[in-house]
Amino acid sequence: MELNEEQQLNEIKSNLETVQCRISEACKNVGREPNSVRLLPVTKTVSAERLRIAYAAGCHEMGENKIQEAREKSEVLSDLDIKWCIIGHLQTNKAKYLARIADEFQALDSIKVAEALDKRLQIEGRSMDVFVQVNSSGEASKFGLAPEDVRAFVAQLPNYSSLNIKGLMTLAIFSPDHDRVRQCFIKMRELRDMLRQEAPANLSFDELSMGMSGDYEIAVEEGATVVRVGQAIFGKRPLPDSHYWPGVA
Ligand SMILES: *Cc1c(COP(=O)(O)O)cnc(C)c1O
Repeated sequence: MELNEEQQLNEIKSNLETVQCRISEACKNVGREPNSVRLLPVTKTVSAERLRIAYAAGCHEMGENKIQEAREKSEVLSDLDIKWCIIGHLQTNKAKYLARIADEFQALDSIKVAEALDKRLQIEGRSMDVFVQVNSSGEASKFGLAPEDVRAFVAQLPNYSSLNIKGLMTLAIFSPDHDRVRQCFIKMRELRDMLRQEAPANLSFDELSMGMSGDYEIAVEEGATVVRVGQAIFGKRPLPDSHYWPGVA
């Protein structure tokens, strides 16, 4: 049975509360402040009508994996003050759309994309907060730089002055083995700490975007400053994960 609007509002509110609660618990486990973690609701496949309800429930940031879907929704919802975050791989020919509609880009994974995006941002006369995506699991299905390539990559980023580098983003290995998941997050924290020391002076590496519905508590325990949570807020997605990450079951 379809829920009416009020029921949907209450459901989303209650899911948000549950996730916030678990973030707080995970913070408490390791002596962190709960407000040091930003919850980014991931809204891919969720309809624009439902996002209107989510906005009323308190979601004012929305993470979308695909630029085309984000474009459509940002148009329909342009009367709302939503911060749009693109969290999926970008093809360079879509950089102009990203530069127009997004407030943040969490999936920078090549110099080609950095160059295309910087050029488009210059045209728009603006800058954008950007995270460098790292493939922390080594899985071929995942986008992102190999951890050992990140330092050399980052050294080139000052050339692209409209990219406001904020930190790193990753997807951990999809595995029921919590230890293997945790290892991915630890690797990222260590990489971030190294970059804080050694990265070019005008780049900042304070942010660590990691953790999804299945593993955000582990990510928080290991230092995530942003968690990207979709299904735990909006319910199970109709499309399998293999639609987003080819090769994943
Ligand atoms: C879909 C997605 C998420 C959220 O996944 P859930 O399982 O819905 O929490 C996080 N990060 C990225 C890059 C995604 O595409």
